[in-house]
Amino acid sequence: MASFLCLTLLCLTAAINAQWYKHDPKTHWHYRHDPKGWPMGDCQSTNRQSPVKLSTKSGITCSENLGWINIDGFRSQIRVNLVNSGKTLVGIGAPGENLGRISVTLDNKKYLLKQFHFHWSGQDSHPQGSEHSIDGAFTDVEMHLVFTEADTTLEIDSIAILAVLIKADSYRDNWKFAKLFNVGLSDMYITKMKSVPGSISLGSLLYGVDFNNYFRYEGSMTTPPCSENVKWTVFRDPISISKTQLEQLRSLIAVGRTGNFRIAFDPTPGNKVEFTC
Ligand SMILES: [Zn+2]
Repeated sequence: MASFLCLTLLCLTAAINAQWYKHDPKTHWHYRHDPKGWPMGDCQSTNRQSPVKLSTKSGITCSENLGWINIDGFRSQIRVNLVNSGKTLVGIGAPGENLGRISVTLDNKKYLLKQFHFHWSGQDSHPQGSEHSIDGAFTDVEMHLVFTEADTTLEIDSIAILAVLIKADSYRDNWKFAKLFNVGLSDMYITKMKSVPGSISLGSLLYGVDFNNYFRYEGSMTTPPCSENVKWTVFRDPISISKTQLEQLRSLIAVGRTGNFRIAFDPTPGNKVEFTC
């Protein structure tokens, strides 16, 4: 049930439901609060929360069992709308578009794409930007591709998130992301939706990602209710956008300059962190 609430409250309905951001002490939260102190759901659990600081030097050895991540529909052209959810910029299927035709199979479970969104630092002085770090390094931005289990049993690990770390270190705009960010984020009020012109493919957004080189761990949503039902895949090699594009994200009304990352935890045994060889 928690995962259902998470998805509906935070990921999908939330993005288009104006009621969502009205103040309700049971559901209201903000990144300016101590992220570890959100008094909701599983947020104060010490079992398998996310994000975590990932490391290849933590004494664990690489796992031969982790193979190539295969995304079915990787090259499919999809029509996307962007929404300011009040907490992030969310990409969802345009009317009539079914993002669920894009899927990933992990540990013999099929997961269907629901949405994607971003986390970033509001200011250069912020200690993070990305939610995860790899061998001590955070990046400016992190993209999350959120998939849900195809058979909707909503059991443990009913959500799979593919995470891509993004550095704002390119002199040129990353044209694959330009299509998204150029819709004009600085006048997108909360719940406002804009259409991305034409279509995009996941393949273009993930250009440069090595699907054979990643961390896998058992974790949680990084926003309340922090449900511990997420199978995480965090790709090891960051991709790049320009500083101008980071500033476009930061221009998102009511979110941008605050930043929207949860403070990363040290992994616990419950996280069962693995990485590819
Ligand atoms: Zn996220």
